[in-house]
Amino acid sequence: MNGFDAPVQPGRVVVVGGSTGGVRTVQALRRAGFEGGLVLLTDELEMPYDRPPLSKEVLASHDAAPVSLLTAEEAAVLEVDVRLGRRATSLDPAARRVTVSGPDGDEQVDYDVAVIATGATARTLPGTDGVAGVHVIRTLDDARAVRRRLAPGRRAVVVGAGFIGAEFASAAAAHDMHVTLVEAQRTPLAHALGAEVGAEVASVHEAHGARLLVGRTVERVVTDAGEVTAVVLDDGTELPADVVVVGIGARPATDWLAGSGLPLPDGVDCDEDLRVLGFRGLYAVGDVARWRHPSYPEPLRVEHWTNAGDHAQTVAAHLTGRPRPTSPLPYVWSDQYGHRLQIIGRPGLGAVGAVRGSMATGDLVAVYADDTGRAVGAVVVDDPRLLMKVRKAITRDTRLAELEQTLLAPVG
Ligand SMILES: Cc1cc2nc3c(=O)[nH]c(=O)nc-3n(C[C@H](O)[C@H](O)[C@H](O)COP(=O)(O)OP(=O)(O)OC[C@H]3O[C@@H](n4cnc5c(N)ncnc54)[C@H](O)[C@@H]3O)c2cc1C
Repeated sequence: MNGFDAPVQPGRVVVVGGSTGGVRTVQALRRAGFEGGLVLLTDELEMPYDRPPLSKEVLASHDAAPVSLLTAEEAAVLEVDVRLGRRATSLDPAARRVTVSGPDGDEQVDYDVAVIATGATARTLPGTDGVAGVHVIRTLDDARAVRRRLAPGRRAVVVGAGFIGAEFASAAAAHDMHVTLVEAQRTPLAHALGAEVGAEVASVHEAHGARLLVGRTVERVVTDAGEVTAVVLDDGTELPADVVVVGIGARPATDWLAGSGLPLPDGVDCDEDLRVLGFRGLYAVGDVARWRHPSYPEPLRVEHWTNAGDHAQTVAAHLTGRPRPTSPLPYVWSDQYGHRLQIIGRPGLGAVGAVRGSMATGDLVAVYADDTGRAVGAVVVDDPRLLMKVRKAITRDTRLAELEQTLLAPVG
């Protein structure tokens, strides 16, 4: 071991989970000159593919292909041993061993270093397991199953008007379906973006003919011969449905780590280098990792695509004894009804301090500031160049007042 708790090369790094976090980790390790063995275990049967298109392009047309993250040829060039259809069922940190269940039964995979990249699992509606027509969108199979149900004139009920619900609603509306969204909050996204901006974002649903029912929850689904026919809300409203998409968040995929002794408060607890706290030779990346972002005092677990790639860079740097790369601010985008919403920083740490434009005109910009007047986050619609400038300003701890005078000054 070197001073960084990294293996003396060449060791064997086993990555558990074959999506953005896992794939970016093996790629970053090779780019950083790691010459040891690399094993990528995933419970999926397909070569790794990208998730953001699943609720966007993959739903848009019946023949849209998935976006590959790593082909078999690329894996061969990188000398990564990709093992598909292997579900990790337990981890023994003392023996440095992962137990995996696969097509030939259980096997033990030994590691010098393991990287946990098992991501998150979509939350489902209680009592809907196995009900045909009720879907989450997390995997390629999920997206394909949803897509088969998209057709003009059909009725879609969307449970949860967060990003995935909104993206599905936008795809269903584009297929000329009748769309109803059911949202528990009074204003969609209010917990993340505040009521004012949430209302702006919500306005696009109605502008595109989707119905939005707020302050409502789902009581139960009605079925006929195992197939969903309606959704019943807490106030008794019955919404006929040919397809129901549930977008009520995700939880970190750590079930398989129960009994490992790892700290699992909400995801795998890690330090600034993504090392699992209190354990040697173990890292976590992506949606499953709860970690210390150098810019914030409290630990974060971030379910955003760029975060998984950033984590991978950090782990690769640490394992190869390089300086830790700068950790960018949290960033997420969402495509809805032809608009791209980009969110930078952490709006939830403050309140809306300045708003310009609107969703209706497609030029909404909102900057959030904390109690001291420091800009902490922003929402920018359809203006990636402005987003870059706002990102820089927030990274530099710019005051909201200064931002208003410069970037947000009225045009003309
Ligand atoms: C439909 C959808 C749309 C999204 N759109 C956006 C977007 O527009 N912008 C954005 O910033 N982010 C978006 N995200 C979030 C982004 O895709 C995730 O942050 C990213 O995929 C996280 O990557 P990950 O590798 O950490 O986890 P995951 O992508 O969840 O991958 C984890 C992998 O591990 C596998 N796995 C789990 N448990 C085991 C086990 N026990 N053994 C073996 N393998 C296991 C899983 O099958 C999966 O392949 C979207 C997510 C979804 C689902």
